[in-house]
This record gives sequence, structure tokens and C-alpha cells, in this order.
Amino acid sequence: MTVYVLHLDPPLKHASHYIGYTPDPTAERRVAEHLSGGAKASPLIAAALKSGSVVRVAHVVEGDAAGRDFERWLKAGKDTRAWCPCCGENRRRLPDPSRITARFRASKVDRNSA
Ligand SMILES: [Zn+2]
Repeated sequence: MTVYVLHLDPPLKHASHYIGYTPDPTAERRVAEHLSGGAKASPLIAAALKSGSVVRVAHVVEGDAAGRDFERWLKAGKDTRAWCPCCGENRRRLPDPSRITARFRASKVDRNSA
């Protein structure tokens, strides 16, 4: 499993990052699909590329901890700029998946999934 974070420069409207999940062991295939801008790209990434944004891979987390829960938790954090190396703020390290609470894991609400 892999969770990856893409950084959009410049942002598309208010979107400066894309956080995604793939069951693949690496992000390679899925990121290539996004960067192709084709039918398998996320609509956000395709639109960003079309508008001239540069899309960079900011983080890749592979392994058992990099599941849907981790993706959902990162999205819920709303503080991606603080730990995105491309944003240059470096205020925080990438959140550690081991800190996801049981309560969050159990929650069914997923307002951020596309
Ligand atoms: Zn960033």
C-alpha cells in the first residue's frame, strides 16, 4: 500500500496538494497516471496540468501503515503546507501513521474522498 502527496505549483484555485492512495507497493504507476493528465488522472491533477501548474511528488509513504486510513487522516489534518517539503515551511514532520487514533479509524465519515 502506498500513500502519496503531490504538490501543485502554482496552486489550482485553492488546491495546492493532492493526497492519494494506491494498493500498489510503490506510487510509481499511479503517479504516472496522474502526470499523464489522461483519463486515469484525478480531475484535479489533470486541470492543474492543463492550466500550466508543475506537479511534484512531495511525499511517498509505502508499507502496511500507508493505507486508506492514513490517506484519510492526512486529508483531515488540513495542514499539509506545514509538512510538505515543496512548500518550504518545514514546520512539522510528516504525520506518523502510528498516531492515528482508534476513534478516527473507526469513524465512517469520509468527507474528503473524491
Ligand atoms: Zn506543498
